[in-house]
Amino acid sequence: MINKPLAPTKLSVVIPCYNEEEILDLSINKIASYLEGLKNEKIIDHSSLILLVDDGSSDRTWNIIQELSSSINDVFGIKLSRNFGHQSALLAGLKNVYKETDCTITIDADLQDDIAVIREMVIKYREGYDVVYGVRKERKTDTFFKRQTAIAFYKFIKLLGVEIVYNHADYRLASKRAINSLFDFEEVNLFLRGIFPAIGYESSVVYYDRLERIAGDSKYPFRKMLAFAIDGITSFSVKPLRVITVFGITISFVSVILSFYSLFSYFFLNTVPGWTSITLSFYFLSGIQLLCIGVLGEYIGKIYKETKRRPRFIIQESLLYQGEDQIQEPVRS
Ligand code: UDP
Ligand code: MG
Repeated sequence: MINKPLAPTKLSVVIPCYNEEEILDLSINKIASYLEGLKNEKIIDHSSLILLVDDGSSDRTWNIIQELSSSINDVFGIKLSRNFGHQSALLAGLKNVYKETDCTITIDADLQDDIAVIREMVIKYREGYDVVYGVRKERKTDTFFKRQTAIAFYKFIKLLGVEIVYNHADYRLASKRAINSLFDFEEVNLFLRGIFPAIGYESSVVYYDRLERIAGDSKYPFRKMLAFAIDGITSFSVKPLRVITVFGITISFVSVILSFYSLFSYFFLNTVPGWTSITLSFYFLSGIQLLCIGVLGEYIGKIYKETKRRPRFIIQESLLYQGEDQIQEPVRS
């Protein structure tokens, strides 16, 4: 067998940006010069590109993206018509580049995920892996609270039987065919971390240290994190509904025993009206009922959203493939 050297890989890097004016210049220059190094090493092709997705920012993010796009050759941008959220921004980016490149890496604009492992990711792709997950070694730079809630989330979601890579966020490489399969999943409620393992194909992981945000604030306050966690769980597992049923059966069983007990006391013992036990059980049962209705509501809300089949993102402007050799119109979905 002749060992033919592999042609350089055509890589695209998709970066979602939401109000990232403080950070963008610095991080994009950093990543562009890192990619330059990989081009010189002939690991990635010279036509590799970076696509910045402006997720409806209200600051100067889009202006900066336009400037970067005109000053750095391989940087492009698309602007969504409003804030669609991190996951939809990623999807918009993927949809617009994956067909033109061999594989795509998604990474956050703040470069908290170490770009130094991009080389290793591409090498794994060249070895034949379709998906390479970036996994955080530790979370020293996150606040104690963020770290603990994240750990609790991963444990909980695993308990519910959802396959997800521990300590992996949305820093990953995926091949063209893996992303193509991703688009066969047409759900509006997106939870990419859960979908990629569900796609299958050979996958591998690379480990890195999570760094500090260079500037700006986290766009994921606790409220958004909680919503994201609930979305993740209810998109992939119906176990909470099962738990409700088990709850219901257990409580009904206990009440049957209690009814026997109260009838028995009524006829054979001196009953004293028990205010405490009545109010306690009242609060307890109403609490459980409301919780169960809430969980049911979550799923009904999901069905409601899915049946409307609204677009997952809308592109307002695109700096991709402009000029004579226009390849395609920006993709809308
Ligand atoms: N982001 C986005 N849309 C949003 C919120 C965040 O595109 O509605 C982007 C943000 O610009 C960043 C990435 O998603 O590139 C992750 O956000 P952030 O770093 O604030 O999250 P954290 O690292 O704190 O979890
Ligand atoms: Mg971040």
